[in-house]
Amino acid sequence: MKKLIYILSITCIAFFNVSATTILGDDDKNKPDDGKKVKVKRDDTTKFVINEENLGETPDTTQILFPSHDLYSTWDTSMAHPYNFNESFKVDSVVLTLIKDCDGAFSMPIKGLITSDFGWRRYRPHYGTDIDLNIGDQVVTAFDGMVRFAKYCQGYGNCVIIRHNNGLETVYGHLSKLMVEPGQSLTAGSILGLGGNTGRSTGPHLHFEMRYLGQALDTEDFIDYEKGELKSNEFTLRKTDVDTKYDLRALHSRHKRDVGYARKNGKGATNKYAKGRNYKIKAGDNLAKIAKRNHTTVKALCKKNGLKLSSKLKAGQRIKV
Ligand SMILES: [Zn+2]
Repeated sequence: MKKLIYILSITCIAFFNVSATTILGDDDKNKPDDGKKVKVKRDDTTKFVINEENLGETPDTTQILFPSHDLYSTWDTSMAHPYNFNESFKVDSVVLTLIKDCDGAFSMPIKGLITSDFGWRRYRPHYGTDIDLNIGDQVVTAFDGMVRFAKYCQGYGNCVIIRHNNGLETVYGHLSKLMVEPGQSLTAGSILGLGGNTGRSTGPHLHFEMRYLGQALDTEDFIDYEKGELKSNEFTLRKTDVDTKYDLRALHSRHKRDVGYARKNGKGATNKYAKGRNYKIKAGDNLAKIAKRNHTTVKALCKKNGLKLSSKLKAGQRIKV
């Protein structure tokens, strides 16, 4: 019965249209097809009709088209991120339809305070948004999609990765319990696991990522966490934004190089990276929380921003960290 549901779910999901529209740059318009625009007729390979004769047979899974198959060449259930964005992203930008009026929906994976943002965290990049929770809280999928990965791995702990029809993948880490398996199709809001503290984690929280072709994006660019809703039904991903906002390792190398250059030239104070990072205050924040999240001290924050311990913080206000 489980297999039957599995087969049917694959058949159903493959009938959805990929809702990503590529915007070609000037350079790309006259280029020969790079393969991304070749659309395979999904109907031909996904119609596995179950009848009395073939009941019990397994369809040829190599013929099954998984979500966003025309963007991804692989459906890897063993590795979390086997993709190379720079090799795969051949356009200047792509418009991702997140939800349509009558198709698809969005659910907050868990409602809670953000405890850590996307960005560089002292020694390593932090590719997700950390959301506070209690162990055992139900974590749900943000959008409709199919589970690609569901297992324990280093760093993420118990982790679920879901592929969506627009090419996005969402990642849910540090779970205490996995409740789905690869190949399972889920609608937005379906429970995928229970919140926990597994992997590289210093307290119960959900590590939530959004990725496109392996490139992690800042979920706060998609989601208004205070309202618990999407900022927009569409998201335009530009190559330039990846270079200037999302490619944390490249940015960090550039940062280190620039700071080094500035120090060498005695320009530290005027270098924009040397001035420190800005932090946007969120509802429920206080100086201690901000200091902990940014690996600094309350004293240093006060000094940098001319604040007192009694200073009131306003949500939306930016301070130096
Ligand atoms: Zn995290």
